[in-house]
Amino acid sequence: MNIALIAHDLKKEELINLTVAYRDVFARHTLFATGTTGSRIMKATNLNVCCLKSGPFGGDQEIGALVAQNEIDAVFFIRDPLAALAHGSDVTALLRLCDVQCIPVATNIASAELLVKAIQRQELGWRDVVHRYRNDRRNGTEG
Ligand code: PGA
Repeated sequence: MNIALIAHDLKKEELINLTVAYRDVFARHTLFATGTTGSRIMKATNLNVCCLKSGPFGGDQEIGALVAQNEIDAVFFIRDPLAALAHGSDVTALLRLCDVQCIPVATNIASAELLVKAIQRQELGWRDVVHRYRNDRRNGTEG
């Protein structure tokens, strides 16, 4: 599965700790992240993460573009509800696209732990069906 990881500055430690604690789960998937979050996760876990632009410079929108293409299967977006952000509209847009595509998204560390446990138990297998259907449509082989 393709997993997106994003955390606002004061929440980065929480997400990093989650990726350390569940490293074996995350290691089985393809990871995408906004720039700073991704480089810190790579440093802490030694996992391979595809780092996009930093959030304030368009990283949230880059992840949003992948979500819009139905390429992302789960989003960990640990937001800081107390911070005023220059790129707040990008955050709203990304969450809206997750709702459009029905992508599981966790916006705080408590729901993030539930989501990673669901991934660990392979409860997101229905996403494989979505990928197969999308690929068949792309290849013109849908039945
Ligand atoms: P960052 O971006 O990982 O580059 O800090 C996160 C964000 O603020 O959206």
